Amino acid sequence: MGNADRATAVSERLFAEACAVIPGGVNSPARAFASVGGTPRFIEHAEGCWLTDADGNRYVDLVCSWGPMILGHAHPSVVDAVRAAAGAGLSFGAPTRTETELATEIIARVPAVSKVRLVNSGTEATMSALRLARGFTGRSKVIKFSGCYHGHVDALLADAGSGVATLALPSSPGVTGATAADTIVLPYNDVDSVAAVFGQFGDQIAAVITEASPGNMGVVPPAPGFNAALRAIASEHGALLIIDEVMTGFRVSASGWYGLDPVEADLFTFGKVISGGLPAAAFGGRAEVMDRLAPLGPVYQAGTLSGNPVATAAGLATLRAADADVYAVLDKNADRLTALLSEALTDAGVPHQIPRAGNMFSVFFAEEPVTDFAAARASATWRFPAFFHALLDAGVYPPCSAFEAWFVSAALTDEAFERITAVLPAAARAAATTPEPKP
Ligand SMILES: *Cc1c(COP(=O)(O)O)cnc(C)c1O
Repeated sequence: MGNADRATAVSERLFAEACAVIPGGVNSPARAFASVGGTPRFIEHAEGCWLTDADGNRYVDLVCSWGPMILGHAHPSVVDAVRAAAGAGLSFGAPTRTETELATEIIARVPAVSKVRLVNSGTEATMSALRLARGFTGRSKVIKFSGCYHGHVDALLADAGSGVATLALPSSPGVTGATAADTIVLPYNDVDSVAAVFGQFGDQIAAVITEASPGNMGVVPPAPGFNAALRAIASEHGALLIIDEVMTGFRVSASGWYGLDPVEADLFTFGKVISGGLPAAAFGGRAEVMDRLAPLGPVYQAGTLSGNPVATAAGLATLRAADADVYAVLDKNADRLTALLSEALTDAGVPHQIPRAGNMFSVFFAEEPVTDFAAARASATWRFPAFFHALLDAGVYPPCSAFEAWFVSAALTDEAFERITAVLPAAARAAATTPEPKP
């Protein structure tokens, strides 16, 4: 099924043109196929669970814009809401009622949040939450976990996951030593090391930030009680707990990871699904903390386009359509897809792990369960490019890195599953027959 005849000439030309004017031809490195090789497909159209590229190839979408599109693409109620909002004006620099409605919807779903501020990206949400935690506590240090990605915030670009993991950069040039010096990076799922660091620097630590359930080193769920232990240790030392739900929020349940593991962070960050696919994100939490933000308090935070009426309408329409039935379908689709993946890889004799966080999962070519970034990196990622390209060439669009989550939508159809079922055996054989590179 290695459709060598699948035409990619138009994507190749568009990519060459993009590379002349955009660094690497992409506006976010995760799109670049850096770890799998080949030419990124330029997408022209998407509807439901199908992507159509510039050469007219159709793909079953298992990336969903890296998470947001839980309803599938161009969902009629979201598109209608966006059209109506756009027709009423694109941006005012003044408040609108939709912002309050979206904040209210978030608070209704996550009772640990009582105030919300809307921003434009997950990066802005974590950056602002960190500043607020430092302003609230008057402390400067922050603990983050190896392999957790919180956007490209300078202070959090240390040993980060996502594109940074794929490119194997321990951190990034351009992040100053002074900025990095206040960040303490600890191994994920290791409560003892958190306790030890608090024992040493407890009165200097403003916050612990963690992905609610990490998805940026591949899916590596917290060990049972891990987030609760972080809550307890942070409280004991007067530090804040920031739970980053940008990826999991409103995806893995109606209340995000909080719905599965209700740990009361001081601050939560949201993005992806609450954007409905437009640039929007949020952070929120306890009123006592949130009310330190300007204009009520001294911690400055702002945005010309924050709470943009069109983006807010898209997010609100997405959340309103995402009812219990949608979450049940997402879970069922993830069950069905992970069963197919596991069966194909088992049949081909490829050792694998498919860790789940609700309807999120990833595929590690590993013998043992993966519980931290070191184990994720030690997996047989060299099998991934052949697996990826066999799927892509046969019309299934998986994430282009072994360190990314796979994302289902509620729009996956039987036709899509039939295609996946048909192409997986050859892809699994491609993974099986890839030779291990010489060290
Ligand atoms: C995607 C992501 C971010 C960054 O969000 P952007 O909108 O890309 O800036 C932050 N945290 C987590 C957990 C994410 O998955």
